[in-house]
Amino acid sequence: MEKQGENSSRLVLVLYPFQGHINPMLQLGTIFHAKGYSITIIHPEFNSPDPSNHPLFTFISIPDKLLESNVSLSPADFMNLVSALNRNCEAPFKKCLTQILDHKHPHERISGVIYDGLMYFAQTVADALGLPGVCMRPTAAAMLLFSVIPQTEQESVFETQIPELQPLELKQMFKSMSTNPTEAMTEVRAAALNATKRSSGMISNTMEFLEHAALSMIREYSPAPVFTIGPFHKLAPSSSSSLLQEDAHCISWLDKQALKSVIYVSFGSMASLSKQDIVEIAWGLASSEQPFLWVIRPGLVHGSQGTELLPDGFQETVGERGFIVKWAPQQEVLAHEAVGGFWTHCGWNSTLESVSEGVPMLCSPCFGDQFLNMKYICYVWKIGLRLETELERGKIQGAIKTLMVNIQGEEIRNKAAEFKRKTQVCVTQGGSSWSSLDEFTKQILSV
Ligand code: UDP
Repeated sequence: MEKQGENSSRLVLVLYPFQGHINPMLQLGTIFHAKGYSITIIHPEFNSPDPSNHPLFTFISIPDKLLESNVSLSPADFMNLVSALNRNCEAPFKKCLTQILDHKHPHERISGVIYDGLMYFAQTVADALGLPGVCMRPTAAAMLLFSVIPQTEQESVFETQIPELQPLELKQMFKSMSTNPTEAMTEVRAAALNATKRSSGMISNTMEFLEHAALSMIREYSPAPVFTIGPFHKLAPSSSSSLLQEDAHCISWLDKQALKSVIYVSFGSMASLSKQDIVEIAWGLASSEQPFLWVIRPGLVHGSQGTELLPDGFQETVGERGFIVKWAPQQEVLAHEAVGGFWTHCGWNSTLESVSEGVPMLCSPCFGDQFLNMKYICYVWKIGLRLETELERGKIQGAIKTLMVNIQGEEIRNKAAEFKRKTQVCVTQGGSSWSSLDEFTKQILSV
């Protein structure tokens, strides 16, 4: 049961309602709960998490008026959605937080508000109510460079960027982000930057060794201290926060496969593919001759369940060698000894989950920060291979073989295994993430 009452401390966490943001925030809640804090999760009505999976937390839903705001949920309309959520949620959040303060036990303390960086209205409310506001960033820390360096300086700073950051091509990214920005984009960037400046600190789901150069640069520019306490899921394993039902049958199937033989294929919760991509992937996997576990979530191909698009003869060809699910318990899958490769869209959570299990990656980024993550994986950390944007069965087959079997992939596999060992060091006592968490608790939560 939740610890409440006398001399306890509570943290209020504000969710951005998409899978790749819900997971890390609830993991963070688990980390602080294990440290003795009571946790209240405040979330918009849209994509509400299931409270029964997290009986130790208190969940409060606030009206988001998304239907009335008439925004689409497609990645292309992302900035309008963020803007609408911030406009619509600020007043209900203030009301809700005021009630929490009014009704708390006299000896209970609200230690702070930790909000997803896209829910920046929470900083305004925290400021108004005199509470520390902390921004949680569920992306690579390198993405923070676009928030902490003034826009007018970004191009020249990125031009002279330090060698370790060159493969990320930050200048090109800045240019494409600043070409013809929409009104919502300009508004969201300015407001997020402003909130970040006023925050008491930032929590980044990353590790010092992964992003040393980017973190040094961020610390040069950011007035708020940055705490790197990732991968969150390794500091305090939490229960599932999947919005779709996880199919656990794949674990029994994995149990029957040979060590490091399986390629796990998943493109996360938002990316989409074409019908032809499904056909190419199917035949690429079939001809690789490796066992595979493939997540085809409803909507992966717009307006379809996906599995009906599999080509004739595919199931007969692969038989028991392939296993297809709508949604997998991904962390468990990546930690399974049968998994030897991950074909991913390079979402940051997927990237970190793979890094921490030492699984080398085949990269097919689709949009946004996934391209930056791919560059980290393939050209900075060298623990993965990039696939051409145009998916083609022969290239898929060759890339899987290189990643998992052929001698050309050996360095990548060894490097990935080394990253698993380094991650373990980070999250154990004295490691950088462990120490950063300790520092955060002392510096931010106890004032
Ligand atoms: N995930 C999962 N099962 C799946 C596919 C994905 O549990 O079948 C989880 C995955 O572990 C990760 C999250 O969904 O935590 C996806 O986040 P990510 O940042 O990788 O990508 P996004 O979905 O935001 O594009």
